[in-house]
Amino acid sequence: RHCRAAQSLLRCSATQARQASTLLYVEHSENGTVAPATLSAAAAAKHLPGQLEALVCGSGEAVKHAADAAARLPGVSKVWLASDAALEHPLAETHATLLSSLAARQKPSHIMAASTAQGRNVLPRVAALLATQPVTDVVRIVDDDTFVRPIYAGNAFATVQFKTPPAVRVITVRPTAFPVDQTAAAAGAPGTGGKPAPVEPVPSELLAPLGSVPAAKWESADVRSTGRPELGSAKVVVCGGRALKSAENFAMLEQLADLLGGAVGASRAAVDAGYVANDLQVGQTGKVVAPDLYIGVGISGAIQHLAGMKDSRTIVAINNDSEAPIFSVADYGLEADLFKAVPELIEAVKKV
Ligand code: FAD
Repeated sequence: RHCRAAQSLLRCSATQARQASTLLYVEHSENGTVAPATLSAAAAAKHLPGQLEALVCGSGEAVKHAADAAARLPGVSKVWLASDAALEHPLAETHATLLSSLAARQKPSHIMAASTAQGRNVLPRVAALLATQPVTDVVRIVDDDTFVRPIYAGNAFATVQFKTPPAVRVITVRPTAFPVDQTAAAAGAPGTGGKPAPVEPVPSELLAPLGSVPAAKWESADVRSTGRPELGSAKVVVCGGRALKSAENFAMLEQLADLLGGAVGASRAAVDAGYVANDLQVGQTGKVVAPDLYIGVGISGAIQHLAGMKDSRTIVAINNDSEAPIFSVADYGLEADLFKAVPELIEAVKKV
């Protein structure tokens, strides 16, 4: 009992020390569009008390567009704009240094980012710089100090609580767990309406040290634009497995995805075999997807793959083995040879 009383006293004094507020790390594309995952993080931030401020880092016109878009996100009361040559590329070292120094100045109670490759790279560094521990991949916010996150590849959920509340709670949130309303989605596009929050430049003394941050060197980015929606936020995902047998055979999944306005994903076995690039991998060590419709083609449904897609609203599985584990999570299962079933499905969809 004494312990609980002490904890609640500590929590109380931590809340008194700093006003409840959240500082959101915004990811954006090269043309200044706020990343869909950040929209989800903004939706998650609504579950926390106090004001929501956003930090947009970059350089040139793109970062200004992104700041304008972030200023229209529902709930955002202020945008911090950090425009500097040292922030031109999304290097975790410089972004984390800036985010932590802004947090040290503004004293938010929470720092939040989406649990994307970039968010997972930046936020733990921020936590280390602020001498605290991050809570990652949050799927539910219980209260200011208590968060639910998946463990054991999504087979169980842990409710974790800061026992001795730190000065600042650093958390990443799983985008698929926090749906984005249409207003927020529209706000993510530049040039949309709504009364924007003020955009304020980050104080120059916080930018000055960035040039000397020991950072990884940015060499180049190899971005392939497919014209399809981003895998992590697509409403339809067509996923292929080892059974596709070649990169060429993935073309039929691309055709099906295009007809359905969806994204293409893959199992790790298909990625390891070199059929598709590894940014298409879905699963425990790939991307987590929760589309309205997931179609798994020639995928067995190993536990590590299920960890990345089992929250999809409707799951369709095509597999020639009736014992394939994916059938245990599928809403619709088709026991068939994919090389016959997928072309038939494509023809059927074309007729709709
Ligand atoms: P297989 O298991 O070989 O399944 C192929 C399926 O295709 C079979 O069910 C077969 O019946 C079916 N099939 C064959 N021919 C046809 C046909 N003509 N028509 C229809 N169906 C057919 N995997 C991931 O996907 N994502 C991850 O993030 C991931 N992370 C991992 C992390 C760790 C630490 C480990 C150890 C493993 C991880 N894996 C991951 C690998 C995972 O365990 C499986 O090996 C992998 O998912 C299998 O991929 P697959 O289903 O494509 O291949």
